[in-house]
Amino acid sequence: MHRRALLAAGLPLALPSPGFAQAASADPPRAASRVLALLAEGNRRFAEGRARHPHQQPRRQHQLAAGQQPFVITLGCADSRVAPEILFDQGLGDVFDNRVAGNIADEVVTGSIEYALEHFRPPLVVVLGHERCGAVTAAVEAVTGPAPTLGHGGVLVRHLRPAVEKVVGRPGDLVANAVRANIALQIRRLHSSPLIAGWAQTHRLHIAGAVYDLDTGNVSFM
Ligand SMILES: [Zn+2]
Repeated sequence: MHRRALLAAGLPLALPSPGFAQAASADPPRAASRVLALLAEGNRRFAEGRARHPHQQPRRQHQLAAGQQPFVITLGCADSRVAPEILFDQGLGDVFDNRVAGNIADEVVTGSIEYALEHFRPPLVVVLGHERCGAVTAAVEAVTGPAPTLGHGGVLVRHLRPAVEKVVGRPGDLVANAVRANIALQIRRLHSSPLIAGWAQTHRLHIAGAVYDLDTGNVSFM
């Protein structure tokens, strides 16, 4: 169906925008503002049920076999509902995706992000938290109650505790507040890396926080 016919029928246009074509080319976007716009466009498609699933064909896979040039680094939760390529409607080779419960920037994750910055030089890092995060909820329960956290979960709680303690007693939902406080905390941790702070200064790297809404599918940038 042609564009005019789609409009006449009141159907959403699912044709690639010029901006999207840029992302699909061999020359990925180099400005953080452009990458943020691409991610917002992709998330809008996903949330409205008109995802295009780009860059997931065998041709793309073969193109990438010789090398990658992702245009964004993400630090997100390992939660099965919060896969960034799906939420932002991107594909293979687009997102250097770091995921761990509670989107924690520990030494290993920070090293992974430093590696990606040095090798691929993307202009944007997104720390992506989400609604009703299980890891943050566990940290809230550990801070507000007597429940011990078993096994290595205690390590997660130790990393998340400062975010929870910062918002205990504030108005609103404690877990939702702690999710946002944790995103801010992990961004500060990333900035404490001399290499990442240096990239922010000399290469205009931008580190953004974002929250995913499990109910609507929308990602809100903070
Ligand atoms: Zn989570």
